[in-house]
Amino acid sequence: MNLKPTPAQAAFREEVRAFIRDRLPADIRAHLRRGHHPRPQDVVRWQRILHERGWAAPHWPQAYGGAGLGAAERLILLDEIQRAPAPVPLGFNISLLGTVLLRYGTEAQKRFFLPRLAQLDLWFCQGFSEPGSGSDLASLRTRAVRQGEHYIVDGQKIWTSSAHVADWIFALVRTEQSAKKQDGISFLLIDMKSPGVTVRPIVSIDGEHHLNEVFFDAVQVPVTNLIGEEGRGWDCAKYLLVAERTTVASVGTCWERLGYARELAETTVQAGRRLLDDPRLAAELAQLDAEVRALELTNWRFQLDPDIAQHNPAYASVLKLKGTELVQELSALVGRLAGLAGLEHRASAGADALHPLAAAVPRYLFYRATSIYGGSSEVQKDILAKTLMG
Ligand SMILES: Cc1cc2nc3c(=O)[nH]c(=O)nc-3n(C[C@H](O)[C@H](O)[C@H](O)COP(=O)(O)OP(=O)(O)OC[C@H]3O[C@@H](n4cnc5c(N)ncnc54)[C@H](O)[C@@H]3O)c2cc1C
Repeated sequence: MNLKPTPAQAAFREEVRAFIRDRLPADIRAHLRRGHHPRPQDVVRWQRILHERGWAAPHWPQAYGGAGLGAAERLILLDEIQRAPAPVPLGFNISLLGTVLLRYGTEAQKRFFLPRLAQLDLWFCQGFSEPGSGSDLASLRTRAVRQGEHYIVDGQKIWTSSAHVADWIFALVRTEQSAKKQDGISFLLIDMKSPGVTVRPIVSIDGEHHLNEVFFDAVQVPVTNLIGEEGRGWDCAKYLLVAERTTVASVGTCWERLGYARELAETTVQAGRRLLDDPRLAAELAQLDAEVRALELTNWRFQLDPDIAQHNPAYASVLKLKGTELVQELSALVGRLAGLAGLEHRASAGADALHPLAAAVPRYLFYRATSIYGGSSEVQKDILAKTLMG
């Protein structure tokens, strides 16, 4: 397969680069370049700028407010956004729920939700995991019982990223007990302002609040918020989980972090020598460069060759596994290069008032999670082993 960019693809990359150069607010870029997570208000601000240009939902059809881009252009757009660095369009809205709605939503659901997802008028979070139901997701126990035109939802979700800023949650709930645990699950959209929804924070190892527990206590959800058929939510979930695994190999982020590590190695002087003058560090950077390139080529092959995507789903596991390993290695390297500055305590100061390298260690710590969410590394290795053994 020829992976050399065509002249049209090269021109599109230039167009995207110029747009980002002109329109990405400098404060957002600087905040991310330092290694911080994007602030929710910055995610909204930037996604609206992208939306004005028609690029907030790269793979959706134009009829629903998407860009209708082909696979190669999509990859280029996301790659340039990650390299900038800028916040990627909110994954819960665009690549996860949006993808499911396009396939399983009714016309009325698409017309109502898709424009709001693209414009980020509604911020969705993902309510799948529960205590005791993570890798074994189909064992989930949150119940929804139909009463007239509503479901009454009771139960608990955990590790729900950004539930504290979200307006709505898409949740897997059990509508029926059946012999096979994948049956009897339904996919519901729930307004977080509904009476009976409680959000409790979980502070993670980086000292930040990204995660939450979400409790449902007799929450009334209109049946019109069911996506797909009652009891067939597992189909939606499987469809969504493949999308989640394939978008998780953040090649552009790997390039951005590698570029940042190289910049630190070139500009940091210790005992009169640049860090980069250490040949072991130079070799490590070269090795990582080769590995990111290999990830990039694998990603292109997977995304552009429909045969591979259809007949060899284990590719998605390779991308998830290798992509998360690399981003972890890169964050460890940036943490090492930052030295003591990376350990600056953040309790009182605002993020931008801290030492420019203060986010290095928290980011390293947060990235431990990438090999857990979206299907843990052990689970990906199980899939690969089964594929290799036929
Ligand atoms: C930062 C972060 C953000 C998250 N955000 C969300 C979110 O927004 N929404 C949401 O629904 N969930 C979210 N999650 C939850 C995430 O999907 C689960 O943590 C993940 O699925 C693992 O489930 P678990 O934590 O229950 O661990 P378990 O499934 O209990 O796994 C524990 C250990 O056992 C291993 N293991 C499990 N099964 C197997 C197997 N078959 N073979 C070999 N080893 C196995 C795992 O690899 C792991 O090491 C998030 C998690 C993190 C860390």
